[in-house]
Amino acid sequence: MADGVISGEYDVVVVGAGIMGSSTAYELAKRKKSVLLLEQFDFLHRRGSSHGESRTIRLTYPEEYYTKMMVEAYDLWSQAERDAGYAVYTETGRLDFGPRDNPGLVALIASLQKFSLDHEILNPDHVSSRFPMVEIPDHWVAVYTQQGGVLLATKAVSMFLSLSAKHGATLRDRTKVLDVKSEVDGVVVTTSRGSVRCGKCVITAGSWVTKLVKGIAELDIPIVPIHTTIAYWEVDPEDPDLYSSDRGFPGFQIYDELPVYGTPSLEYNGMIKVNSHRGNPCDPDTRSVAPDHKSLRDYVSPWLAKIFKGNVRHDVPVIAEGCIYSVTPDEDFILDSLPGKDSNILIAGGFSGHGFKMAPLIGRIMADLACAGSVPGIPMEYFSLNRFASNPQVKEKGLLSL
Ligand SMILES: Cc1cc2nc3c(=O)[nH]c(=O)nc-3n(C[C@H](O)[C@H](O)[C@H](O)COP(=O)(O)OP(=O)(O)OC[C@H]3O[C@@H](n4cnc5c(N)ncnc54)[C@H](O)[C@@H]3O)c2cc1C
Repeated sequence: MADGVISGEYDVVVVGAGIMGSSTAYELAKRKKSVLLLEQFDFLHRRGSSHGESRTIRLTYPEEYYTKMMVEAYDLWSQAERDAGYAVYTETGRLDFGPRDNPGLVALIASLQKFSLDHEILNPDHVSSRFPMVEIPDHWVAVYTQQGGVLLATKAVSMFLSLSAKHGATLRDRTKVLDVKSEVDGVVVTTSRGSVRCGKCVITAGSWVTKLVKGIAELDIPIVPIHTTIAYWEVDPEDPDLYSSDRGFPGFQIYDELPVYGTPSLEYNGMIKVNSHRGNPCDPDTRSVAPDHKSLRDYVSPWLAKIFKGNVRHDVPVIAEGCIYSVTPDEDFILDSLPGKDSNILIAGGFSGHGFKMAPLIGRIMADLACAGSVPGIPMEYFSLNRFASNPQVKEKGLLSL
């Protein structure tokens, strides 16, 4: 990639080349728009939210709108894989389980039923005979869906970067966006390597989005960067393949007060990835990558001991690394334009630890917003900026408010 000054005019400038920026640039380039994708660090760096080995993908969501969106997202992942000529998805099946009356699990089953999506409801005996390595309590229930698995994270970002370039987008890394200013007939994007003009600017800056938007529009958007931890746990060395997808072990989520989720042994022999969906607010520029071992001990280890029949070493993980994601108060995304004179500046952020699986759909949504200003088939009210101003319930739960 050439160094040097950037200049010129584009239909759309996309800020941030994580999974959302690269999939948005791809979708826009496919639509024959002139696109510039800017990244402050090196492409495929490890300081944001999109790097690493794996992300789970599933149809199963308590919210009907996400279940429906996932049907389209799956289709778009397949189309992108066909365009690239290689795969980033591995189907492993998916098991969601928890107390029978857990509201999330009850709603998830209702969503699957509403859209007639294939699934099986399993009682604890069914679970033990089908998955001999798993044992769930008597009052629990499980839902199995074959359509579920793992996306290779860095490989997927790399795929969308290559596809964007193949379809004509211009890609520049080591280029930090310093300011985005609305003008009467478009937007000026000022970077560490010069300025460009564009019709629309799509900001997909991950955990940096709050700082960037504050600088651009004096707006406090309720997206909070969270430091979380991923961990890989050792499987009984006597039988290291026990939790592999080849032996039928699926991706899973435990529905309890604090969700705990995991993937089968795939990227590392004899280890499974199991994490909890929790973390503490942090600054993306100064955060540490140190893992939060206390959180793993308190929230993950007990489940490994309880559910996995003692075949997973649960006192300490083999690999643990601190990472970052950015959450909104209601954990729904923000996919919207900025208000008033800044309406040519769009943001896609607050993916709240569950956005990766929808990346190609986010690309489609942001391209629709940039090109047409409306998004067919998606209930955009769930993703609007002003929902935080008008919904007191969201504010109550909120980490921040508008
Ligand atoms: C540990 C962990 C586990 C997860 N598990 C799952 C999962 O199983 N399933 C799932 O669906 N999702 C999961 N997620 C969530 C998912 O990975 C994220 O939602 C997604 O990666 C967010 O992508 P992004 O492109 O918005 O952000 P990022 O990947 O952070 O990309 C934003 C980019 O913008 C760049 N940038 C910021 N500011 C500027 C600037 N001023 N100028 C230029 N560039 C800038 C950054 O450097 C960065 O590269 C997980 C996330 C984490 C961290």
